[in-house]
Amino acid sequence: MLTEKQCASLHQVIVSLILQFEEVVAKAQERAMEPVQDGNWSPNDQATVLSERACASEELARMSERLRALCARKEAIERGKFDGLCEECGDPIGFRRLTANPTACCCASCAQEREIRARMVAGGMAPSY
Ligand SMILES: [Zn+2]
Repeated sequence: MLTEKQCASLHQVIVSLILQFEEVVAKAQERAMEPVQDGNWSPNDQATVLSERACASEELARMSERLRALCARKEAIERGKFDGLCEECGDPIGFRRLTANPTACCCASCAQEREIRARMVAGGMAPSY
């Protein structure tokens, strides 16, 4: 269980992360809106711009996802619904881990296990897109 003080400082960490993410996402969205067909683009340039843009939009999707997770965690803290316990084993996630990774939902050892499982899935049974 997190103390009130820990909750407050974790909340602060999340709020500042959200602000940073919002800024980055807004800028990325602005860039994504720029017209490609303007000016004297050669077909090669256009291809480069389009593939860069595809990367940027993947990045944008990842960041939006993270932003959503941060907002959800922030709300949970505000409502006193976040207990700082691991979803998997119920042990405290640990304040240090939470400060470094405020959207963590399980403790370090469970996260490691999850990662290994995810890697196994990615290595074999996952559908290829
Ligand atoms: Zn755990």
